[in-house]
Amino acid sequence: MIPYGRQDIDKADIDAVVDVLQSDFLTQGPAVPAFEAAIAAHCDVAHAVAVNSATSALHIAYLALGVAPGKIVWTVPNTFVATANAAHYCGADVGFVDIDPSTYLMDLNDLAKRLEAAEKSGRLPTVVSPVHFGGMSVDMRRLRELADQYGFAIVEDASHAIGAEYERRPVGCCLWSDIAVFSFHPVKIITTAEGGLATTRDAELAATMQELRTHGITRDPERMRGPSEGGWYYQQTKLGFNYRMTDMQAALGLSQMKRLDQFIARRRELANRYDQLLAGLPVGRPARLESSESSWHLYVIQVPERRRVFDALREAGIGVNVHYIPVHLQPFYRDLGFSPGDYPRAEAYYEQAISIPLYPGMSDADQDAVVAALGKALEATS
Ligand SMILES: *Cc1c(COP(=O)(O)O)cnc(C)c1O
Repeated sequence: MIPYGRQDIDKADIDAVVDVLQSDFLTQGPAVPAFEAAIAAHCDVAHAVAVNSATSALHIAYLALGVAPGKIVWTVPNTFVATANAAHYCGADVGFVDIDPSTYLMDLNDLAKRLEAAEKSGRLPTVVSPVHFGGMSVDMRRLRELADQYGFAIVEDASHAIGAEYERRPVGCCLWSDIAVFSFHPVKIITTAEGGLATTRDAELAATMQELRTHGITRDPERMRGPSEGGWYYQQTKLGFNYRMTDMQAALGLSQMKRLDQFIARRRELANRYDQLLAGLPVGRPARLESSESSWHLYVIQVPERRRVFDALREAGIGVNVHYIPVHLQPFYRDLGFSPGDYPRAEAYYEQAISIPLYPGMSDADQDAVVAALGKALEATS
């Protein structure tokens, strides 16, 4: 079976984790700040807050930006459920913006229209969370303009996009957003097994997220109410969680970061090769954007008769997948009042989408096998 995505773990990664196991700290030691510093340096951003998943990072990012009952978060239906669910964790309502059918990203024209209507009805979002789907950044400049006009904050769901660039700047630099969130799940670009991280240029947002990841506790006298009572003293000033990343995970992430450029280079090579190999087949291929260098987390093709093509590929040992089932069509979201037809372009995209294998350890021969199986599957359906 050729999987759709796979982690790449080498001897150095293993040694890094073993070193932590033999050290004094399995958690709350030096590896977490070292990993955070490596990501901050890569992203050219002041602050990085590592947590146990991107889902947790989204949750504390929304909380830090004031998302609460009565507030609203908007994202796209073409995402993993976590982007929307994290807003529900805060007691907020979720709305969606439809996607651009050529890029599979948030359609900023649709966003502009919905903002105009929401302003009239007094239902503007507190946060808009675009998803850099497949590793391709949305047009952050235009999104920033809309944020300034309507007064919402931006949390980039950059789960797919470490190593990607927008206008030659690393995704995660937060030049146009408040917070960006990465995932280090094994299928993503680099891995810590489970893990996530939030970047920001704002010291106050960073400090708040640092508190929220560990019970809402601070040890900084500056952030306490009243004076510290001594060296042992800490204060819980808000309700937080245990969302901490372990030092074993951070050491793995730090080791993986050394090969980030290599991972991205191979993903780009494979994506370019797919573009060429698929040119003769009746499939839609991912768009390229002038402003964005994708990290190529996913390579999504569009095919007629998706179900038959999907089944044929799985039968041929090709681990294809589908990203994503529109979030608003999940039963939990239907119970909240969403229905088929609400976001027609995300739904039409979903009907034809297949993610074909793409990961740095994939050989050219693996890729040729995927394309050959796809060619056969398409013949059988036409
Ligand atoms: C993977 C993913 C998440 C969740 O990441 P975890 O680290 O598994 O919590 C959120 N959003 C998107 C777009 C993702 O792909």
